[in-house]
Amino acid sequence: MIFKASRYPHKSSRALRASLLLFQLLSYPVLVWLALVLWKFLCYVRFPISPFIRFTGYYQFCAGKDVASCQVATSRMAAFNVKSVLDYANEHAKKESDFEENLNVILSTIYAAANNDAYPFAVLKPTAIGAFSLYEKRSNGLEFNTAELAAWERIKKRLEACATSAANSGIVLMIDAEESWIQLGVDALVLPLMEAHNKKRVVVAITIQLYLKGAFDYFKQLTAEATTYFLGVKLVRGAYMEKERKHAQLLGSPSPVCDTKAQTDQQYRQALVLALENLDTNLCIVATHNETDIEWVKQYVEKEIGRLQHKNLWFSQLYGMRDFISFSLAEQGANVLKYVPFGPLQQSIPYLTRRAIENSAVKVQTARELHMLKQELSRRNANA
Ligand SMILES: Cc1cc2nc3c(=O)[nH]c(=O)nc-3n(C[C@H](O)[C@H](O)[C@H](O)COP(=O)(O)OP(=O)(O)OC[C@H]3O[C@@H](n4cnc5c(N)ncnc54)[C@H](O)[C@@H]3O)c2cc1C
Repeated sequence: MIFKASRYPHKSSRALRASLLLFQLLSYPVLVWLALVLWKFLCYVRFPISPFIRFTGYYQFCAGKDVASCQVATSRMAAFNVKSVLDYANEHAKKESDFEENLNVILSTIYAAANNDAYPFAVLKPTAIGAFSLYEKRSNGLEFNTAELAAWERIKKRLEACATSAANSGIVLMIDAEESWIQLGVDALVLPLMEAHNKKRVVVAITIQLYLKGAFDYFKQLTAEATTYFLGVKLVRGAYMEKERKHAQLLGSPSPVCDTKAQTDQQYRQALVLALENLDTNLCIVATHNETDIEWVKQYVEKEIGRLQHKNLWFSQLYGMRDFISFSLAEQGANVLKYVPFGPLQQSIPYLTRRAIENSAVKVQTARELHMLKQELSRRNANA
């Protein structure tokens, strides 16, 4: 296996012990459930949680409350060639004022990236800058009224502002993927943006969720159609499986998500092959914690191009998770990017909740994380 436990070079032993304790707690779903209930209650009664922030897991999964405060964590990782993309963890946006505020924060991440090699990418979630209902309406082919049309034009302008700023800053702007039932609406805005900005290099990169039935065919079609511009893709399996299945059930339609994990894995692998075959022109971000896939990509590129480093190939993991993968890959010369969420504690709660649920659900990966943390602490103790 290519991943070494000693690959936590950016963390002190104290920080490692805190991570170990947190992942131990996360390996008990009942504890996670109780903690989330308590958390919801404390929020409901407006209990001031901020003074107790370090007991919430916030610092494991978020790098700071704003762009400036993330610098400590991101420069520490950059010292070991692990780059970052600052991801504003605000999943509450509902009103036009929220969208404008989010736009300004996203633009500030792009400005920060323009002057800092540690940030070769920026990222945005479509629903951070526009109403979910508008994307959904557009996806369903429904007509907008006058006010909606104006709001739609404002989303277009916000996207254009971010893409132009990314182009001028020499970085790539990634667009996250969310629920499948808004994706047609998102694509209606993002695909033309990619076509317009990616003439000389990849400025805008989209996300493909390979847990969706037909996602590989869609990716194949996009690859074939990208003859006059460079295609940039982030390949993920997909984060909204339960929500997708419930939504389909409500509509009485078949789930858009693959029926089995094996089918998702197969599509993911097919997408990797296609992306790697087109690396000369197209950008691929392998965004996964799946060690088998990462090992497979590593062997494929080493065989095909003789080295792990390729300007159009990036590996990406989430901040605070699977550091042993990220830092091992970087040590071996690969381009590695951490997704680094930031934002005030209160705003980051939905993100932290998802991380807690995910880590308690994927038992094998959490057990592996625990194993690696324990191994590294023992190694340090033995060397002390
Ligand atoms: C850097 C980064 C960026 C990301 N950006 C996005 C994004 O923009 N949008 C997004 O949706 N997600 C995103 N994700 C999350 C991602 O989609 C996965 O949820 C997460 O990474 C776990 O998948 P995996 O490939 O790492 O690991 P694995 O453990 O190999 O796969 C778990 C995934 O497999 C799929 N799966 C599990 N069980 C089944 C089943 N029974 N049937 C079918 N499929 C199943 C699900 O997608 C599940 O999340 C991102 C992840 C990373 C690391």
